[in-house]
Parts: sequence; structure tokens; C-alpha cells
Amino acid sequence: MGHSTLPSPQFSTQELLVDGAAALGIILTASQTGKFIEYIDFLSHWNNKINLTRIIDPFEIVVKHFLDSLLYLKGFAPFPGMRLLDLGSGAGFPGVPLKIAEPKLEVTLLDAREKKVLFLRLLLRRLRIKGVSCLHDRAEKLGNIPCRQGGYQVVVTRALAPLEKLITLGLPFLRPGGRLVVSKGPGVEPELDRVYKASASRGMQVAQVIRVPLPFSQLVRTLLVLTKH
Ligand code: SAH
Repeated sequence: MGHSTLPSPQFSTQELLVDGAAALGIILTASQTGKFIEYIDFLSHWNNKINLTRIIDPFEIVVKHFLDSLLYLKGFAPFPGMRLLDLGSGAGFPGVPLKIAEPKLEVTLLDAREKKVLFLRLLLRRLRIKGVSCLHDRAEKLGNIPCRQGGYQVVVTRALAPLEKLITLGLPFLRPGGRLVVSKGPGVEPELDRVYKASASRGMQVAQVIRVPLPFSQLVRTLLVLTKH
């Protein structure tokens, strides 16, 4: 995405976030917006020490990390106590933006890299976000632990693995009726055919394929929602 697609710099980072979220149907309070702004500072600070993301421009962080995470809310309807697992959360995407926008979610963040989990724990403390579990493990291993199996209504993941692999990784965590929500960029079509087959043979079905324009960009995401029988 070139910067030419972004509004001119007289828009503040905050305005970009609030307007972008509104375009996705999400109304952010001042306190939520404040947390996102703190998130940018904290991410930039730590990115200088440990490599967390290639994206460093605040406007790009808003669009390509925050709004790109928030659009997952098109794939499920949060309710109080709803348990959501973010597989391969990295620097917190999409799990942390989802928790900021929907505090009623019970969020678990998982990453195989210790430094990422360390960052996530520090971030949550800085943002004064309580009740999020950060786990350092591989999805393959955690999915074999009985108390985790079937423990979640929603599993989200971004940029972790090819779709077929995500079905294998996500399936053990889901309750019957639970949703695996995955966002993909352009070029998803060739993968889709295989996903329909792979999901059917593993007790899942493609419930929704939703195209969502990413605000302030020319990108369109494809949100795939798979449900477990
Ligand atoms: N979801 C984030 C990070 C994507 S990069 C984002 O979209 O920005 C992929 C992340 O998954 C990395 O942080 C990596 O450490 C983690 N990861 C890779 N394989 C994993 C596995 N098998 N189990 C858990 N985490 C894994």
C-alpha cells in the first residue's frame, strides 16, 4: 500500500483510528482510543530493541495492524465471557485490538516465541488490560492438552500458516459450533477450493466468506469463517 492511499497528514493518528473503526461499524470511546495510541508508542519503543514488526509508521500501524485486526469483528458476535484464542499472536494481532474494542471477550494469546510473549505481557500491563492470558507454546502442543481442547468459542489467527494448516491447528481448541476466523489478502481463491474439501473431511464447514475493504487502503480482505460441527 502506498502512502498516496492514506489521507493527508493533517489527519491525526487518532482521527484515522476513530474514523477507520467507525467505517468498520466500531465506535471507540476516548479511553479505548487512548489505549491504541499507547499501543503505538509501546510497539515502536520495543521494535527498536526486538524485532516485532516491519511496519513502523504510526498511520500504517493504525491501518495495517489495528484496523486489519478490528475487521475480524465482522466474523463473530462477541458476548460477555466469550472465550477467544489468538493463534500466533506475535505483537498482539488481532487479539489485543479485539480485546481493547470488546473488553467483554475472554482473550488468550498464544505464541511460540518467548520474546513475543514477554512483549505481550508488558504491553497488557502498560495498557492496564486485565484478564488476558498470554501463553508461550506451540499451537500443535497446546492443542494436545485436554483442558485446552474445546475450550474456545472463537479462534482467530493472522499470518500464521496456509489455510489448510490453520484448520488442523485451530480445530482442537474449538467447542462444537465454535468459529475459526481467518483474514486473507488477495489471491485467496486458489486456496478456497482446497479449504472447502479439507474442512468437510475434518468436521468443519465454511460458514461465511466475507469481503471487507480495509479502510484508508485499496486492500480488500477476505474473512473466512469456518464452524465446527
Ligand atoms: N499474528 C501476528 C503475527 C504473525 S507472524 C500478526 O498478524 O501480526 C506469526 C507468529 O506466529 C510469530 O510471532 C511466530 O512466533 C508465531 N508462530 C509460528 N508458528 C507457531 C506455532 N506453531 N504455534 C504458535 N505460534 C507460532
